[in-house]
Amino acid sequence: MQALEERIRKDGIIKPGNVLKVDSFLNHQMDVSLFVEMAREWKRLFSDRTINKILTIEASGIGIACIVAAEFNVPVVFAKKSQSINLDGEMYTTKIESFTHKKSYDVIVSKKFLSKDDHILVIDDFLANGCAINGLLEIIESAGATVEGVGIAIEKGFQQGGKLIRDRGVRVESLAIVDSMDCETGSIIFR
Ligand code: 5GP
Repeated sequence: MQALEERIRKDGIIKPGNVLKVDSFLNHQMDVSLFVEMAREWKRLFSDRTINKILTIEASGIGIACIVAAEFNVPVVFAKKSQSINLDGEMYTTKIESFTHKKSYDVIVSKKFLSKDDHILVIDDFLANGCAINGLLEIIESAGATVEGVGIAIEKGFQQGGKLIRDRGVRVESLAIVDSMDCETGSIIFR
């Protein structure tokens, strides 16, 4: 999506360790008009699918996912990061390895908000190694719900996540795919 690529070129900051900072418009300060454009693009891309719920993960997916939910006119559920998993059987749980923070954490979704009747579009800001999306897919699987697709704002195409998720037969629509970036020169090449 051209508007997103242009914005990444203009305001994205490449950090050492293959981290792209987009906190001036995507995941700290948020450009909601851009989110609306992104949501419309996912609505177009997934127009052949029947979607009744959006699933994302806290924290940075939530803002984008809310705008997407408004565009699809469906509810949005976010997986919560949790210190201690309660084992009373009321929650779907999984473990996720964080790319940016290099540690693993548990995430939970209440069984009240996900069921076998749900047709889910998963939304997140970044796809890197695929751990976050993989965890969300595991939760959807535990619920017996159907994944209609995954919508990603920025996929880092030089990391393995996109391939891993697509190889599982899941449709992934990334609005910008970064094939390479260089923190010395600031150059970014999109697919
Ligand atoms: P993954 O689980 O695919 O390895 O990483 C995805 C998660 O890590 C995303 O939810 C995102 O919050 C974070 N992340 C991964 N790479 C980047 C990056 O280059 N920049 C930022 N800002 N977040 C990232």
